[in-house]
Amino acid sequence: MIEGLSQLKIKANKMEQLEAMGIHTMEDLVFNFPRRYEVIEQTPLVDNESVTIEATLIERPKTLYGRVQVMNFTVDYQGQELKAVIFNRNFLLAKMARNMTLTLTGKYESRLNKITVSNLYLQPLSEIASITPVYSLVDGMTRRSYQGYVKKALKHIGTQIEEQLPEILLVKNQLIKQKLALELIHFPQTKEDIAQASRYFKYLEFFRFQLAIQYVRYLQSRITGIAKEFDRTKVEQFVGSLHFDLTSDQVAAVEEILDDLARSKQMYRFLQGDVGSGKTVVCAIGLYANYLSGYQGALMAPTEILARQHYQTFAKFFESTQMRIGLLTGSSKDKETLYAQLLDGEIDLVIGTHALFQEKVGYCRLGMVVADEQHRFGVNQRKALKDKGDLVDFMVMSATPIPRTLAMTVYGDMDVSTIKTKPVNRKDVVTRLVQGDTMKPILKDLVEYLSTGGQVYVVCPLVSENEKTDTRDAMNIFQGMAKYFKDRYEVGLLHGRLKDDQKNDIMEQFKANKVQILVATTVIEEGVNVANANMMVIYNADRFGLSQLHQLRGRVGRSDIQGICYLLSSSDNPQAKQRLEFMVNCNDGFEIANQDLLYRGPGEILGNRQSGLTRFDYGDIKNDYDILVLARDDAAMMLAGKSNDPRYLKILAEIEMESQNNNLYID
Ligand code: ADP
Ligand code: MG
Repeated sequence: MIEGLSQLKIKANKMEQLEAMGIHTMEDLVFNFPRRYEVIEQTPLVDNESVTIEATLIERPKTLYGRVQVMNFTVDYQGQELKAVIFNRNFLLAKMARNMTLTLTGKYESRLNKITVSNLYLQPLSEIASITPVYSLVDGMTRRSYQGYVKKALKHIGTQIEEQLPEILLVKNQLIKQKLALELIHFPQTKEDIAQASRYFKYLEFFRFQLAIQYVRYLQSRITGIAKEFDRTKVEQFVGSLHFDLTSDQVAAVEEILDDLARSKQMYRFLQGDVGSGKTVVCAIGLYANYLSGYQGALMAPTEILARQHYQTFAKFFESTQMRIGLLTGSSKDKETLYAQLLDGEIDLVIGTHALFQEKVGYCRLGMVVADEQHRFGVNQRKALKDKGDLVDFMVMSATPIPRTLAMTVYGDMDVSTIKTKPVNRKDVVTRLVQGDTMKPILKDLVEYLSTGGQVYVVCPLVSENEKTDTRDAMNIFQGMAKYFKDRYEVGLLHGRLKDDQKNDIMEQFKANKVQILVATTVIEEGVNVANANMMVIYNADRFGLSQLHQLRGRVGRSDIQGICYLLSSSDNPQAKQRLEFMVNCNDGFEIANQDLLYRGPGEILGNRQSGLTRFDYGDIKNDYDILVLARDDAAMMLAGKSNDPRYLKILAEIEMESQNNNLYID
C-alpha cells in the first residue's frame, strides 16, 4: 500500500527537499538506505593504523601554545603506558583530571609507543560507542531530521509492511523479517544488526533475480520455435570435408545445436570453450544446417578484425558449397548493395560487427544468429539482432570459460554447451615466469626464435584507465624494439586509439608476415588467429587476471607448433607471484577460471564485461557471491517444487508482468 508523506506533518520546505531527493511516499522514505555507517567501537592496538581505545589518564596534559596548540599526555591502556598527542584541543584541558577514563581515536605508532589522537572523548567508550548511518541527502537536510522522518514513517506503515519472502526461506536461511530489517538498516545498534539487515535485502534482491532468469528460461523452453528441416547427410558430408576430426566435445556440442534447430523450440544457447578448443567450426556447422533448412544466418563479432577473420575462415570452410557469404562491417564500402542482397535473400550467411543489427539492415529469412565472444555485447544489442527475424535461433559463444556455478548464476536463462577437450596434436603453451620488467633476460630466445622465421606478440597491460598513458607505455616499448631490430625485423604497434581500418591494416600485415613483432595493448583480440606467431611476451603480467592471461597466451597455442609465453613481472607481492606460478603450471581454462573465482571473485572473470549484465542495488556479485548462490539454489528449488506459497506466487506474478511489459529479462 502506497502512502504519501502528508500524514507525517513534515514542514513545507523539508517536504520540498525530500521531493528533490525523489522521495514522495513513505515507502520511498524507508527504502532510501544509508550509503554507509560511521562506527565508533573499540579496536585492537595495531601499528600504523587508526585505532579506538579506552584508557585512563595518568597525569594532566602538558600544553604548548604556539601557532598550533599541542597537548601531550600519557595514558594507561590495559596496564601499558602510552603517549598521546593531540592538536588544537587545548580547551579540553580544564575538564581533564587524573585517573579519568578517556576514549581516544587516532593513529598508533608502536615505534614511538604513541597515538596521534584525532578524536578525544572525555568519557568511557561504552558511553560513546555508536553506529551512525550516513545518507546521501540534499543540502539543508540533516541526518537527524531524515532519521526522524524514517522513524515516523516506520511507525505509520510498520504494520502494513508485508513480508515478501516465503517463510520457509526465511527459516532455512536464518533471515530476519523485512520489517525488522528495515528498522535495523536505519537504526542499528551493532555491526551485527547491519549485517543481518543487509543480508536480508541482498538475499531478497538476488532471489528475485534468480527466480526471474530461471522462470524466464522455463517459459522460453515452452515457446514453440521453428522446427528446421535439413539433410543430415549433407551436414555429415561437410564435417567429413574438414581436414581434421572433431573432438568428442565438439561432436556433443554440434549434436545439441542441431537438436535445437530441428526441434520446434527456439534455441537459446551459450557455447563456451577453452581457447583453441574449436568453437568456430562448431558454430559453422550449426549455421550450415540452418542454411540447408532454407534460412539466413548471421554471425556477429565484437570487432572488425575478428569479423574479417571469421569471414576468411568461413569462406574457406564453405568453398565447396553453394552458400553465399557476405561481410558487413562499419568500414564496408558497398553497404547499400549488401543491404539489398540481404533483403533479397542473395546472401545466405552474413558475418560482421554491430553493423549487422542497425536499423537499416533488413533480412529475408533470418533463422539463426550467433554472437561471438558475447561478453562484449550488451543485452540490448543481442536483442536487436535477435528481433531481426521471427523466432530466430540464438547462440552466443564465449572464449572465457565461466565456472559452472557462475554460468548458472549469470546465464541461468540459457542452455549451456561446453567444449573442454582440445584437438589432438595441440601442445600446451609453455609458460615461463621472468622476474623484472625488461626484455633483457629473454632477448636471446627472442632473437633465436625470430631467426627461425617465427613471429612474436608483445603485450602491454592497461596500466591505468587512461588510454593516453597506456598507449604511451606501449609506444615506448614499440620504439625500443623498433630501434633494436632496425633493418632486421619489422615491428608493428596496435593500440586502442587507432582507427578500425588502421587496426585492420596492421593485423593484415602481421598475418602476411610483413610485420614480425606486434606490440599491442590488450586490444590484441581474443580470437585472433595467426598460425605463424608462436611466441608471446606479456609485460607486467601480474596486472592481468588469470583468465585474461590464459586468453592471451591462447593466441600462440593454435596449431601443432609449440607455443611459448613469457610472463614478465617485477612484483614481489607473494600472492601475485603465486598466481603467476599457477599460470605456469596450469593450462586448463576452466581450472584457471575457478582459481580466479577463488582468489578474486567473479568480478575478475566477468571483468569489465558486466556491461550487459544486471546491476544490483544492494548485493554485489563479487562480494556477496555466497548469498547469490544460496538464492539461486532456493529459486531452483521453489520453481521445481511448483510451490504454492502465496509470497512466492506473488513474486512470480510480478516477474511475469515485468517480462511482459518491457521484456526485462528476455533478451
Ligand atoms: P576457439 O575455440 O578459440 O575460437 P577456433 O575455433 O579458432 O578456437 O579453433 C582454433 C584452431 O583449431 C583453428 O585453426 C581450427 O581450425 C582448429 N581446429 C578446430 N577444431 C579442430 C579439431 N577437432 N582438430 C584439429 N584442429 C581443430
Ligand atoms: Mg573464437
